[in-house]
Amino acid sequence: MNNTQVNAANSGSDTRCVVCDTQNCTPLIKINNIPIHCNRLWNAKEDAVAASTGTMNLVFCNHCGHVFNQDFDPDRMDYDPDYENSLHYSPRFQDYADSLAQGLIDKFSLHGKDIIEIGCGKGDFLKALCKLGNNTGVGFDPSFEDNRDGQSQKNFSVIKDFYSDKYSSYGADLICCRHVLEHIQYPAALLNTVKKAIGDRLESIVFFEVPDGAFTLKDMGIWDLIYEHCSYFTSNSLSYAFSKNGYTELGQESAFDGQFLGIEAKLNPTTQDFEPARFNLPKNTGLATAAAKFATNYQEKVSYWKKQLNQHAQTNKKVVLWGAGSKGVTFLNVMKSSGQVEYIVDINPHKQGKFVAGSGQEIVSPEFLKTYQPDIVLVMNPIYQTEIQESLNKMGLNATCHAV
Ligand SMILES: [Zn+2]
Repeated sequence: MNNTQVNAANSGSDTRCVVCDTQNCTPLIKINNIPIHCNRLWNAKEDAVAASTGTMNLVFCNHCGHVFNQDFDPDRMDYDPDYENSLHYSPRFQDYADSLAQGLIDKFSLHGKDIIEIGCGKGDFLKALCKLGNNTGVGFDPSFEDNRDGQSQKNFSVIKDFYSDKYSSYGADLICCRHVLEHIQYPAALLNTVKKAIGDRLESIVFFEVPDGAFTLKDMGIWDLIYEHCSYFTSNSLSYAFSKNGYTELGQESAFDGQFLGIEAKLNPTTQDFEPARFNLPKNTGLATAAAKFATNYQEKVSYWKKQLNQHAQTNKKVVLWGAGSKGVTFLNVMKSSGQVEYIVDINPHKQGKFVAGSGQEIVSPEFLKTYQPDIVLVMNPIYQTEIQESLNKMGLNATCHAV
């Protein structure tokens, strides 16, 4: 069986940054045997355990502040309907997505407009944009499933394909793209595709959202390190990528308790040359210091949780995780040889009854806990702790809740 191992990262000295193309990268950490598709659901435990794995060989670019996996192999990625990453079953997440949609509608007066969403997943965010602003939306995503929620919505359609140049005839007042850019080896490829699609419609607004790499690097959000995410944008590297590829940045916003980063931009109508010097990583970001300490801090955090799980196992405490998203899957894989976590809870019914890639735990419903009676519930994202505690209280469970 594969165990997730951590080594010192390979030298990044001759590696070129995927955003700024300079050779000024510092190795961060190398993590072996992590699932290639951490959000792929498996119907059988044996298949889940045998899921293919890859290597995360993270480096930090000292020039633009970008973090990326220099061993990423895009040929190993494919996304199909078994790829389940909808977070929309959480009221907390839904509130966030709805307020983000409303914020964009208000800011850019999006009423009765055309909206495109690249990588719309199951379509929840695009539906909100259409509904709240009476807009017309076209989404692009090969993993979209028709009529999954049983509710049809007018002015909303999805093309089950990757967005590419061949769809450049679909003009839009807003082109949004959430949690996609970090999956693409060279961000310029997608940014150029969007640029071509916009063509001469210079008033089109572009909105991208990515996980904030600073949260991983500085706040040790290490459970967000997944193979699918080859890029970890920091505010500076995000600005760099957009400016270098012909956009004018309108603004950036930190969201979801500092875990996400949003950028609004338009095409740059001038042919002015890009000035890289303007985007050198400012000294005061603290990112270079965090990068230097990252490997040590990573090991410490992992050791702490391994020790916790082993102690719980020795005292016969039943531990479950809550949240079978990227964070939960990563945690279970990194902890694979420690303790005995048998189940992971998720409120998304499409995940229940399936198995976690790599480590093989079964995903169960919250109700299952009434029978299982866990002693400890580990919450994979502190942002959901209140809603999880409420669910436990409603079910009359006394389990102790800890954020991981
Ligand atoms: Zn760079």
